[in-house]
Amino acid sequence: MPDLTARIAENLADIRRRIAEAAARSRRSADAVTLVGVTKYVGEAEIRALVAAGCTELGESRPQQLWEKAESLADLPLRWHMIGHLQRNKVRRTLPVVEVVHSADSPRLITAIDHAAGELSLRMPILLEVNVSGEAAKHGFAPHAVEPFLDELAGYRNVEVLGLMCMAGLTSGLDGARAEFAELRQLRDRLRGNRPEAVKLDELSMGMSGDYEIAIEEGATIVRVGSALFHERPR
Ligand SMILES: *Cc1c(COP(=O)(O)O)cnc(C)c1O
Repeated sequence: MPDLTARIAENLADIRRRIAEAAARSRRSADAVTLVGVTKYVGEAEIRALVAAGCTELGESRPQQLWEKAESLADLPLRWHMIGHLQRNKVRRTLPVVEVVHSADSPRLITAIDHAAGELSLRMPILLEVNVSGEAAKHGFAPHAVEPFLDELAGYRNVEVLGLMCMAGLTSGLDGARAEFAELRQLRDRLRGNRPEAVKLDELSMGMSGDYEIAIEEGATIVRVGSALFHERPR
């Protein structure tokens, strides 16, 4: 499928260039930003083309699809990211497959992750999902609830909080998205100031196809891009 391969490689190159430019605007190098290619809209052929073009950090928002894709692509050197809501009864099967859970969105879920990670003898990197837009349909900690939760982290032995994650509100527009990304960064900076060293909070996972450049300008270290990798552009 030469067309598919070329189109995806071209899209990836364009996105990497935009990432580097946005990183430069925030006085960082392109390496400071990890691109997670979100594969939820596509099948195996597209994913293989993406990997061949050099993107091996992949994200899925539904556990079942993540398991299936990870299994059918097990011959590739991939790093999977769980980016969508994770039901507690799917935790045990998901943890061994993924590098990071971006969507650790409640104390109950994190308790389940902690238990399962203990049983599996692994230490699970997670990001706390924060509902910065306040939209009722969104999962995540309210911004004011993050600090009290961090105070309880000592009770969780098998999770490692790497940072924070958010999605801009559906109706926020680009200016609203920028304000929400800035809010997540400011929350992180405030919390990082007075934490034990084990809580690093270095990572900010924010920005999708429509707003990843803005997110990088506001400090994103991980962007999750799906549709822009796979779309067809008029030539
Ligand atoms: C689908 C999804 C993305 C990617 O969205 P695009 O707009 O297609 O880039 C990023 N993050 C999460 C949590 C998603 O569910």
